[in-house]
Amino acid sequence: MTANYHTHTFRCRHADGTEEDYVRTAIGEGYEILGFADHSPQIFRYRKEYSGFRMYPEELEGYVSTLSGLREKYADSLRIRIGLEAEYYPYTFSELMESFARAGVEYLIMGQHFIGEEEVYSGSGIDDPVRDEERLHRYTEQVLEGLRTGYFLYLAHPDVIRFDGDDDTYRRYMLPFCQELVKLDIPVEVNFLGISGHRHYPSERFFRIAKEAGCRVVFGVDAHNAQALALRETEAEARAFCARLGIVPEEKLDIVSPF
Ligand SMILES: [Zn+2]
Ligand SMILES: [Zn+2]
Repeated sequence: MTANYHTHTFRCRHADGTEEDYVRTAIGEGYEILGFADHSPQIFRYRKEYSGFRMYPEELEGYVSTLSGLREKYADSLRIRIGLEAEYYPYTFSELMESFARAGVEYLIMGQHFIGEEEVYSGSGIDDPVRDEERLHRYTEQVLEGLRTGYFLYLAHPDVIRFDGDDDTYRRYMLPFCQELVKLDIPVEVNFLGISGHRHYPSERFFRIAKEAGCRVVFGVDAHNAQALALRETEAEARAFCARLGIVPEEKLDIVSPF
């Protein structure tokens, strides 16, 4: 790997390691570009408490300044980019974007982990095995609405929505979804954490459709510890996965700040 744009840190409360731990591992592994996209702060409409699996809003400044410092310190060995993995919830989106712009964030990837609104969420999780096609409908609509805002560099784990129903139904939603991603010029991610964690994604069924639609594809380590940047077997599996489907992933992306 020469570039990865999906790196977490201890700040999200469920990953290990400081920013510098990841930087040093990336340099040791020969990366040229390391993009941090830790789980963004999330504000809610009604709930007063913070989300428990992200950095808190007041921690964003420290995240950005730490990464800016490391960028200077390691300028000769690695290109560091400062991003966030964010969700799309319409009611709080513009307020969040203003705070990211103020903080100096350079890019966003979309990782949609809930359908509807997280704070009022009840029912099954996005990765529960269900056959209800309405969930496919709602997921694809919400993601596309978010991507149409123009704020996102790519879509992380596009296939996180788990659907255990038949292929025809899946395709009926996912083909138009992928075709729209092509129009929006949004790449989709083959997620390494899904591979190493034996999750239901990356989904071959999804990526066959993405290939048919002509989607751009990128790799994302989704590193929750520094060692994940050094998992060569996972990378080999990801490359074999793409080769099997005739997909050629893009190694590097141009980042144009949306802020
Ligand atoms: Zn995470
Ligand atoms: Zn994610």
